[in-house]
Amino acid sequence: MSRRGKTFIVSGPSGVGKSTVLNALFEGRDDLFFSVSATTRGPRNGEIDGKDYHFITADAFRAMIEADAFLEYAEYVGNFYGTPMRYVDEALEDGLDVILDIEIQGAVQVYQKRPDTVRIFIAPPSWEELERRLTARGTDTPEKIQKRLLRAKVELDSASGYDYFVINDTVEEAVEELRAILRAEHCRPAERIPLILGR
Ligand code: ADP
Ligand code: 5GP
Repeated sequence: MSRRGKTFIVSGPSGVGKSTVLNALFEGRDDLFFSVSATTRGPRNGEIDGKDYHFITADAFRAMIEADAFLEYAEYVGNFYGTPMRYVDEALEDGLDVILDIEIQGAVQVYQKRPDTVRIFIAPPSWEELERRLTARGTDTPEKIQKRLLRAKVELDSASGYDYFVINDTVEEAVEELRAILRAEHCRPAERIPLILGR
């Protein structure tokens, strides 16, 4: 049975564990495509250009906006982030599910353009735990951490508009829930009925 690829947005406060959970989700999966965003933020220790992000200058980012190369883009805590459209569309054509790790403003843009996108919000088990994870990661200054926590409050407010709400208490459970969501979304009648009717 062949199937079409679907687009899944994963949003959630900085430090909630999106990258950790998505890395675990991708293990051993060749049916998933991670959309590597472009950003004007500098790389953190251990981040690899082209794998975690395409780290580009503000001028290069502006040039991509002008060339209409982004599916969406947004400013987040002083930096720009955007999803290059081309790779997303190529992956969907190849039948892969595309995962976008993007914040809420970008999620709105993608959903407006493509309403068949599935939106998943990842939340922390508690506010204290979010602060603990952000601090423990050790990649941001205390000032940046406070800005990200402030932003997290706004993000949590918009979570009720998402299709799914996953709480990242343990990584294993969060990954299991993501797997279940991806699986269930391919059981929709709109996708399944044409497969058996050959339309
Ligand atoms: P995000 O991508 O959402 O900004 P990260 O994946 O970088 O978050 O995770 C932030 C920190 O929290 C990291 O140090 C990571 O190891 C830790 N972390 C992620 N998920 C969990 C979890 N379920 N329990 C405990 N620590 C976690
Ligand atoms: P970080 O700097 O912690 O890697 O990411 C900060 C925020 O930007 C996270 O909420 C992440 O989901 C979001 N983000 C990453 N890439 C993109 C993107 O291409 N577009 C948008 N809108 N947000 C992004």
